Amino acid sequence: MTSPSNKTRLTEAAYQCLPGGPLDVDKEFYDKVAATASTEPPLRTVVESFVLPIRSGKAWEMRKGDICRIVAVEGAQVGDLNIWSLHNPRERFWASRTRQLQRAHVSVYDRLWSTLPYLRPLVTITGDSLKDYGVDGSGIDAEGGRVHDLLGTRCDPYVNRMLSGEDKDYHCHSNLTRAILPYGLTEFDVHDVLNVFQCTGLNDKDQYFMKTCPAKKGDYFELMAETDILCALSTCPGGDLSKAMWGEGSSETTNADPTLECCRPLGVEVYRLPDGWLAGLGWKEALPNGPMYKGRHALREVAFTPSASADIAG
Ligand SMILES: [Zn+2]
Repeated sequence: MTSPSNKTRLTEAAYQCLPGGPLDVDKEFYDKVAATASTEPPLRTVVESFVLPIRSGKAWEMRKGDICRIVAVEGAQVGDLNIWSLHNPRERFWASRTRQLQRAHVSVYDRLWSTLPYLRPLVTITGDSLKDYGVDGSGIDAEGGRVHDLLGTRCDPYVNRMLSGEDKDYHCHSNLTRAILPYGLTEFDVHDVLNVFQCTGLNDKDQYFMKTCPAKKGDYFELMAETDILCALSTCPGGDLSKAMWGEGSSETTNADPTLECCRPLGVEVYRLPDGWLAGLGWKEALPNGPMYKGRHALREVAFTPSASADIAG
């Protein structure tokens, strides 16, 4: 028989955040980082600022310790975010492991982890004006929706073609592909995204649903780079996702582009803190955990034995 305590254990987080452990975040430190948004005189210097038009993509670099704020400058709009190590694009954001180590919808103090064999936090989330979304600030709304989604991925022209029979060139996958071209990257480098401002959940049939984006003008999502990174963001062509991009709903209208009116730009601002400010609080760049594993996946080296009678010259 399962004891009550064992029953509880079975539904607790599989990846436990233990005090002082590798998943334990110094909340006091990140509160201090978040507070630099409004210090007087300002501690933050703006190093990059742009507004990403609807249905487009752009990449930008962040130095370790830089802070980036994504802002719903005109209201509800979903943004699809990709992140790579700036110096090695094979190391990139790993959405599914982040879902396990953190949660399926992320907010303040959550970290976005990188792929194997690197495995480190690429960024830590320092600000989220929607952190109290949902019923009584619980993070979950009456329909089971939560915001800043890691369950789904980017929209793309291949699924669109399969489901609708039409070719569309401005899906997030394509916007991200164009965005990273100047960095020598291709669509093979585009990976599963963080859907910033996107409200999603699983229904009672365990199927993925997307609700209308709850962001209002001025809502923001902010993160700090734990190492040097390259980011790319797409303004989703579905806009605030209030209208279906495929299937039921999208075919009911005669409008050839029903989601165009749901699309709004997103603002991106990158800030830098004074030299040594973060180090003064004990912060250090996150290093990959991968090298700590000294095993070799049970691979065994086969000794090379030269043949004594080999006559290479023939
Ligand atoms: Zn999209």
